[in-house]
Order: sequence, then structure tokens, then C-alpha cells
Amino acid sequence: MNRPVNQKPQDQKKSPVGKIIAIVIVLIILGAAVMVGIKIPDTMNLERQMDAAALSISNDSVTALAGAVEQYPRAANKANAIQLVNEMIGVMISEAVPKTDYRTLEGIETELNDNTAWKPYATEENRKILADAWDEVIRRMQAEHDKLVDLKEVAVRIQGASIPRASDVAEFYDFKLPAGFTAARPVQMATAFAAAVAIKNQELAGSILADAVDQESLLAGTEEPCRECDSKGSVPCRSCTANPGKCPTCKGTGAMKVSRLVDNQVQATEQPCTRCKGTGECVVCKGTGKRDCFYCKGTARRTNTDIAAETMRKGLKTLIGQIDTQAAELERLKSRTVR
Ligand SMILES: [Zn+2]
Ligand SMILES: [Zn+2]
Ligand SMILES: [Zn+2]
Repeated sequence: MNRPVNQKPQDQKKSPVGKIIAIVIVLIILGAAVMVGIKIPDTMNLERQMDAAALSISNDSVTALAGAVEQYPRAANKANAIQLVNEMIGVMISEAVPKTDYRTLEGIETELNDNTAWKPYATEENRKILADAWDEVIRRMQAEHDKLVDLKEVAVRIQGASIPRASDVAEFYDFKLPAGFTAARPVQMATAFAAAVAIKNQELAGSILADAVDQESLLAGTEEPCRECDSKGSVPCRSCTANPGKCPTCKGTGAMKVSRLVDNQVQATEQPCTRCKGTGECVVCKGTGKRDCFYCKGTARRTNTDIAAETMRKGLKTLIGQIDTQAAELERLKSRTVR
């Protein structure tokens, strides 16, 4: 009888503490579950954004990832994402420098100044990276410009001569364009080739053409359609005009009748055509009915020095214009004020 009585106070004593512990445990588990429940989708979403952003690094992908960092504040990988945004900005800046790609730097600067998504990344550190990149790009552009002055000099000399000197054309062609200017190489090549054709320096034209990857585009600037053959490249065979492709002697049969006197009688016998050896084909055009145009050698196009000279003038104008634009941009960038 004592036992239940004894046990009861014990139970009553223990029970509130146990309940509290149990409730606390349940709350912790619930809380953790809620935290995890929120955290996991956020983390996964941010992970996806990070993967996408790293695949194509651009101002837009930086904006998207920076926005995602704000959108998923409970993500466990938030710090990684922030670090990735900073790295992406750094990569874009460092890749722009060797290409003297000042437009990219200007774009990044604008985003850092004006794009609210970029605000957290407009740090002193990133601004320092950008400022250093600007110094380097302007230094490089100045060096490029100093080189380009030489190219412009040759270009102007060719432009001004009634008959350009072959040595000038060769110098113009051999001029090594600076990094920020390499996109102008096809124009440089086409211009030099056209100039060599215009001054009828076949050796120089030949070596420039041999150097070209896209020979067709070089030739296109010096040629016109062949009028002699209506730009067909071929003309009708003159030996077989009546029956194109057929042997005119045997009319394509391959056989010819030969009459001879046998026992005082005329006998007609057939024997293979002596002209076509029995094939029936016109031997001049090998049965095609056509022959290559004499003037264009079958290419349907003919070189015209006037066209070449015109292409040369256009190319020189384009390049001189680009050099002048670069000079103006350099002056603008030198005098730019950092916000
Ligand atoms: Zn024949
Ligand atoms: Zn023929
Ligand atoms: Zn022709």
C-alpha cells in the first residue's frame, strides 16, 4: 500500500520537468525542421543560380546572381554566392585588360554606379581593381596608339600616291596590329592585296593571297564578273555547234561510211570514225559541248585593276577612320572622371 503512495509524489515531482524537456525537444526538432525546410530550397535555388552564372560570365549574369543572393537570404551557401559575384566581376575586368577592351570596363563601372543589385559589390576593393585596370588599359591604348600612328602614316602615303610604292604596300601589309586592333586584320589584308593588284605587282599580290585563310573575300575585292562568257565560265564549243558534244564528222554515231571500188563496183562499208575513234564525242570539248572561257579561264570572274584600286581606297579610309576613332576614344578616356 505504501508503494503507490510513495510513487505518486515522485511522479508528480518528476513530471513537470520531464514535460518541459519533452516540449523543448519537440520545439527544437520542429524549429530545426522548419529551418531546414526553408533553408534547403533556398540553398538549392541559389546553387542553381551560381551554376548558371558561372557558365556565362557577363554583367547580366552578375546582376542575376546578385539578385538571387537577396532573394534567398536563408541559403546556407550565401557567402559562396557573394564570393562568386566578386570573382565574376574580377574575371571580367582582368580579361578586358589584355584586350584593351575599355567598353567592358565602362559597362562594369556603370553597373557598379547605377545598378542597385550591384550595390553590395561596389566595394572599395572592387573599385580599386577597376581603377587599376583603367590605368593599365589607358597605358596600353596609348602604346597601341603610338604604334598605329606609324600605320596611319603609311596608309596616308599610299592614299596620296597616284601609283603607290610596292615597298609601302608591303610595309602596310606586314604592320603588326596591336591587341585592341586585331579585328581590323581582314581589312588590312584585303586592302594590301587590292593595292598590290592595283599596282600590278603580281609577286606581292600572290604572297598576300597565299597567306590568306579566306582567299575568296580577298579576290572578291579585285574582280568583276567575266563579260566575255556572261559569267558562266564557259563558252559553247566551236567545233560542235550544230550538235553540241557530238563529233561533227560522224554526227555522234561513231561510225563513218567508206566507199571503195571492189571488182569495179562501188561498195559502201562502215568503219569507226577516224576523228573520234568511234566514240561519237567531239574531241575538242570531250563531249561536253563547252570549253573554258579563254578570258576568265573558267572562273567566271576577271581581275580589274580599277575595282582593286577602289577596294584599296575604301580599305585605307576604313583603317584611317578606325585609327582616328581610337585616338579620340583615348583622349576621352584620359579625361574621364571617376564617379
Ligand atoms: Zn566521230
Ligand atoms: Zn565540241
Ligand atoms: Zn569568262
